[in-house]
Amino acid sequence: MSTRLAILGATGSIGRQALDVVRELRGTVRFEVVALAAGTSVEELAALAQEFGVAHLGVAGPEEAERLRALVPGAEVVAGPEGLAHLASLPEVDLVLNAVVGAVGLPASLAALEAGKTLALANKESLVVGGELVLRARQRPDQIVPVDSEHAALFQLLSGVRPEEVERVWITASGGPFRGRRPEELASVTPSQALAHPVWPMGRRITVDSATLVNKAFEVIEAHHLFRLPWDQIGVLIHPQATVHALVELVDGSVVAQLSVPDMRIPVRAALTHPHRLPPPRTLSLPGLNLTFEALDPALYPGFAAVLEAGRRGGTAPAVANAADEVLVEAFLRGEIPFPAIADGIAEVLALHSPEPVRTRADVEGADRWARAEARRWLARRGAPD
Ligand code: MG
Repeated sequence: MSTRLAILGATGSIGRQALDVVRELRGTVRFEVVALAAGTSVEELAALAQEFGVAHLGVAGPEEAERLRALVPGAEVVAGPEGLAHLASLPEVDLVLNAVVGAVGLPASLAALEAGKTLALANKESLVVGGELVLRARQRPDQIVPVDSEHAALFQLLSGVRPEEVERVWITASGGPFRGRRPEELASVTPSQALAHPVWPMGRRITVDSATLVNKAFEVIEAHHLFRLPWDQIGVLIHPQATVHALVELVDGSVVAQLSVPDMRIPVRAALTHPHRLPPPRTLSLPGLNLTFEALDPALYPGFAAVLEAGRRGGTAPAVANAADEVLVEAFLRGEIPFPAIADGIAEVLALHSPEPVRTRADVEGADRWARAEARRWLARRGAPD
């Protein structure tokens, strides 16, 4: 039986790897690509539409949609977050891979869940900013199959484990390019140093978020929602080899771990084919494997604590943290602020925010807009043009 896919964020890192899996598995597990979406990479999307014979396409806005219609006549072309939501709920789609970057991915996640699709979730903002909405829309526990490596690991480790048997779970972090530095050295690090991740090739924002460990705080928030785990039961370990992705400590003292080579194709293909398992793209060689774990140094990663606190406060606070981070990371990458100002700015914007409950998408979107404006005001006060 073939699985009919909608791949949203098709030209990003995860989307491309997913399409590689589809190409590689032609003739073994049959996938049919029904819908594809990309933000502004119109030419690449048009080429993919031709290659996979896709009739439903989505792009960022009306201008891109017009260009795409000229390149792929006869295809349905939709635009914006609502367009993504339309693609995610097409009747001919079984599985939606949401690999869109940013909070614009939330409507598509909600639409996929409400339409009963399996959601392979790589858009972490869906859970970070809209966790409560996503959980309300989820119709069955395994309807969301996580793609993020740590959550893909927990998804496997926790299956068949009763909640009362779990003492604590751990997700790992490589520690990013600045692991082992002294906090005061971070004032002079450059964007290109922050973008040189030691293990994972990823997009620019998530790479900087992995240097500040803001990404890891987002992942704790994701785990809290996805697996319904209390905050105090989710720990983070610095693990530079990025081979163990998560561990589950059970009440009897057993610790079970998931290991694999750090290669996103493994969780991507696991999500696309769940509950079946495919031959691996690469295997882990165990002899001689040297694994180390360290506690997280809060002084080196102040952004982690700031964002985690936003998660604990809940409501609109995580949406504010996410939006402020996005604005501040962009300012850092443009060379306008030093690296430590990302964490400072997030904490300052959060300090000005009184979280409201999240009842609808509009609550999330309002908090997002407020936080972006507030982060820009903060940048202006520091004397950085935005
Ligand atoms: Mg991750």
